[in-house]
Amino acid sequence: MDLSYSKGYEDLRAEVRGFLAERWSPAEDRDTIRAFRLDSIAAGYLYRSIPARYGGAEQEADPVAAQVISEEFARASAPGEVQGISTEMLIPTILERGEEWQKQMFVTPTLMGDMVWCQGYSEPGAGSDLASLRTTAELDGDHWVINGQKVWTTGGHLADKMFLLARTEPEAPKHHGISYLLLDMDQPGVEVRPLKQITGTAEFNEVFFTNARTPADWIVGERGEGWSVSRSLLRHERLMVGNPARSDALFRSMKKLVSTITIDGRPAIESPEVQQRLVQLEGWLETQRCSGYYQSTKELKGESTGTLGLTNKLNNSNFAQRIAELVIDLIGADSLLAPNPESGKRPGNERWMNQYMGSLGIAIAGGTSNIQRNIIAERGLGLPRDPLISDDRS
Ligand SMILES: Cc1cc2nc3c(=O)[nH]c(=O)nc-3n(C[C@H](O)[C@H](O)[C@H](O)COP(=O)(O)OP(=O)(O)OC[C@H]3O[C@@H](n4cnc5c(N)ncnc54)[C@H](O)[C@@H]3O)c2cc1C
Repeated sequence: MDLSYSKGYEDLRAEVRGFLAERWSPAEDRDTIRAFRLDSIAAGYLYRSIPARYGGAEQEADPVAAQVISEEFARASAPGEVQGISTEMLIPTILERGEEWQKQMFVTPTLMGDMVWCQGYSEPGAGSDLASLRTTAELDGDHWVINGQKVWTTGGHLADKMFLLARTEPEAPKHHGISYLLLDMDQPGVEVRPLKQITGTAEFNEVFFTNARTPADWIVGERGEGWSVSRSLLRHERLMVGNPARSDALFRSMKKLVSTITIDGRPAIESPEVQQRLVQLEGWLETQRCSGYYQSTKELKGESTGTLGLTNKLNNSNFAQRIAELVIDLIGADSLLAPNPESGKRPGNERWMNQYMGSLGIAIAGGTSNIQRNIIAERGLGLPRDPLISDDRS
């Protein structure tokens, strides 16, 4: 099996490398990063699949070219596309299912990070069984009036807007009575209450709606068809979580740390046990990478990625957890150190405990690992459906 890139792609790599050497020098400030992103879009490197009229680079679909570009951006630690819920989940959905005016209004500012969204799906009692959600939206003239509660809303305290699922047809069967709405967070009817996590931070929120209002046409897809819109979004969420580039970056960062740690006065990297675990992890990573290449090839040919495409999220969350476990085993109590309250200085290694706890969260977000296994078993392997459960998040 020859996994090297063809000459055309190696030429592209050299071109991207030249561009980065000329245009990118590490910077923190928002304006420099923004200008660099705009240059990168103009060069055809970022947001390649998004039409130019919505702020993208509008390039022909070529997953291998996209892979080469993202490898080079990662190598240079240059800011690539804005990542996260807004760009990787909402934007593909608006492009797929939204009205033209919605694309014009929401896509460009979101791509540039100027408009930040949160996802209002889960509710108390409606997570895996999402279709049981009870938040309601009723039309009142030219506005929807929304009442109810969401939970686990990542970044809700920072978001400008929310995409949410609400029940608009209370009489319809549960999957058919839901609509997919967009909402301004900054209004009296929306109350955001942060949830303090075990890590000490508060990234999630409860969000309460009391007669919150949103214009009648801030709906994606038809009224009552939000369930099918949300299905395309979850597919994007799982692709986002399953991206092998994330595992790669994590593995490199772990390897760098492990090469600086000592055990009983000797470099940890010389310990046979550590070596064995590293080799196992590298094996997983290479498997994921090859699986990524295989899936890209299939996509290039317009073929289905089959069962393999269903396994990405599960594999990626398992991998992140194993990496963090290895580091925590090696650095022990260091992983528990909090930032010094006087100097505010961070000891540095606490990020691995956060990484570990975060990896447990990733195994739940966007459809739990149990649900993923059900999907792989039923849709991928053709096994019978478990008669005792209903996997509504699939
Ligand atoms: C890091 C993180 C970020 C999140 N961000 C958001 C967000 O921004 N917006 C949002 O709306 N939600 C968000 N969520 C919520 C997330 O979507 C839900 O937690 C998830 O869907 C599971 O729902 P639940 O917590 O209600 O668990 P439950 O559905 O109650 O599940 C509890 C347990 O039962 C198992 N289980 C349930 N049903 C089945 C079944 N059919 N087959 C097998 N096992 C089953 C589950 O696997 C799990 O182990 C986030 C969650 C996490 C962890």
